[in-house]
Amino acid sequence: MAAAGATADIVSDNPADPGDRVGSFRPGGGIDVDRAVSAARDAAAGYAALPAQARADSLHRAAGRVEARAAELAELVRREVGKPVLEARGEVARTAAILRYHAQAALDPDGDTFPSGDGRSLLMARRRPRGVVGLITPWNFPIAIPAWKLAPALAYGNACVWKPSPFSPACAEALLECLAPELPGPVVQMVQGRADAGAALVGHPGVHAISFTGSVATGNAVARMAVERGAAAQCEMGGQNASIVLADADLEAAAATIATAAMGYAGQKCTATSRVICDGATAAGMRDALVAAVEGLRVEDPAEEACRVGPLISAGARDAAAAAVKRGVEAGGRLLAGGGPLDAPGNYLAPALVEVDDPSAELAQEEVFAPVCALMRADGADAAVELANGVRHGLVTAVFTRDLDRVLDLANRLDTGLVRVNQPTSGVDLHTPFGGEKASGLGPREQGKAAREFYTSLRTVLISPSC
Ligand code: NAD
Repeated sequence: MAAAGATADIVSDNPADPGDRVGSFRPGGGIDVDRAVSAARDAAAGYAALPAQARADSLHRAAGRVEARAAELAELVRREVGKPVLEARGEVARTAAILRYHAQAALDPDGDTFPSGDGRSLLMARRRPRGVVGLITPWNFPIAIPAWKLAPALAYGNACVWKPSPFSPACAEALLECLAPELPGPVVQMVQGRADAGAALVGHPGVHAISFTGSVATGNAVARMAVERGAAAQCEMGGQNASIVLADADLEAAAATIATAAMGYAGQKCTATSRVICDGATAAGMRDALVAAVEGLRVEDPAEEACRVGPLISAGARDAAAAAVKRGVEAGGRLLAGGGPLDAPGNYLAPALVEVDDPSAELAQEEVFAPVCALMRADGADAAVELANGVRHGLVTAVFTRDLDRVLDLANRLDTGLVRVNQPTSGVDLHTPFGGEKASGLGPREQGKAAREFYTSLRTVLISPSC
């Protein structure tokens, strides 16, 4: 059943300028999902039968279209989701690179051979497409995340039904315009819509696998529904990422890197730093360096080249973040910087740094998805690891130190899908596996060669001589 309001138009407004309407879109519902799945199913077999080179060529040409429209796409990303223009340009370039990477991966070996029992037969395991895959995406990387699902799905021969976020419908249309003309048929179907359209896609019996990126609560519901009806599920979800600063680190450099990782793009990255765990011996120095670095960040219109922190996606998200900071302070946290809305049009929040003593405090445990970060202290590396691991999430941890021996040890003990040393928690290499542990991720990793695990299934074939 459609949720209340599900049929109202999806309206996309510029988060930096509430008077600037990016567009209005008709939301799809169960019937539209049904139509899209049928069309994808009709196209799937023919597409899967194409030579891999043809699929690779399509993706390369789509990348060319993204590159040709790069400036316009970056403007759209900036305008629709409020991403600082420098990062918006980076996202567009990355989108093209993702398409090209998976175009090439389409030509990788598609299986393995094994010694047969009788020594004469051919025993092999071959990868083949899953069929129709459902893709559900968030708004914060409105073209790169869809690309890192669509590109491998298409490279390995699947047809796709994609439901983008209702906060980034115009970016979704623009990406589809780059892809669709280069594909040999209607193998990418898009349904704009809200939660009801997403749920209809997850529950549709014609969809063989679901790849989801979004919040933990939604991802868990998606995974439950998919598994119940026997569909494969891959869910990449939220984080509560820590940056550990050990006593031997360069505090100024660490603070500058962490401030951007925590507050850049208004903290709206799954890989943003939400907790800084610093060694007790250097806590005072780190506190001062971090406050200075956070206060030095430019919070302004994302159209400005120097902007590092733009608006939140909606007024509701800004107000929820300000309320979380307020609760954090009421619960005993000490506000070191920011926390209030800016006196300007747009959904801006001054980046908030809150010193937190209690590891079970809300700000230490729950993702706010905003420029809000908890500063915590631990006595020594072991205590820091325990604190870093003491949350239900497990996406990424950063460690700042000059001690390589310690890093080798810590990298094994941190229970996150990514560990980054002297680097921001935010940042992803498109050719490496990406995904979280614990509540942050379910199913095979995304990106790089790892993407093949989810978008193909293995068929083991034994061929013996006829006599
Ligand atoms: P969200 O969970 O609200 O929505 C994600 C998508 O799911 C949207 O398209 C939404 O319409 C759809 N959806 C909502 N309810 C659904 C349902 N019941 N069934 C099916 N689909 C449904 O997340 P968001 O606000 O768009 O994105 C922010 C969240 O995404 C944060 O928690 C962030 O950490 C996470 N995120 C994770 C990654 C990652 O790779 N781990 C990357 C980016 C964002």
